[in-house]
Amino acid sequence: MALPTSIDLQIVTPNRLIVQEQVDEVQVPGSEGYFGVLPGHTPLLASLAVGELWYRKGQEKTYLAIAGGFAEVLPDRVTILAQLAERAEDIDVERAESARRRAEERLTQKVDVDFERARAALLRSLTRLQVASRIGLRTGASRRVRP
Ligand code: ATP
Repeated sequence: MALPTSIDLQIVTPNRLIVQEQVDEVQVPGSEGYFGVLPGHTPLLASLAVGELWYRKGQEKTYLAIAGGFAEVLPDRVTILAQLAERAEDIDVERAESARRRAEERLTQKVDVDFERARAALLRSLTRLQVASRIGLRTGASRRVRP
């Protein structure tokens, strides 16, 4: 049987379908570390961490913030069932900044703090900020080449 030449990527959350595209490569934030998928990958099931997922079509990469869920990898298909999945352009940076500040303040308090909850909120906010900055980085780069 011929090896597949692309991946049918589907990313869904409990609320909606976020991505349905033919792509060339995917990087997934697995709970045991990031892993890359190219067409023809060995089948696997993995749980997802909070982190950045990207997929590539030709030269173009698209970034999403992901938090929790499962990934199913087949040679010609990747299905991401995520608790949260946000495209870079849908991330509200001010909201993520406030969430980061709130979580950092909580983590410096000594009493009456649910540390695990604050740590998880901090991780979500930092991931959102990193993913959102991917768009900013592109804009910044194109600005620098202008006189
Ligand atoms: P916050 O404290 O700002 O609510 P959070 O990390 O506690 O942040 P979540 O519980 O992870 O928020 O998400 C709740 C809903 O709000 C989800 O639908 C999520 O996609 C959305 N959301 C949270 N933060 C942002 C953001 N900065 N930009 C866009 N959507 C966001």
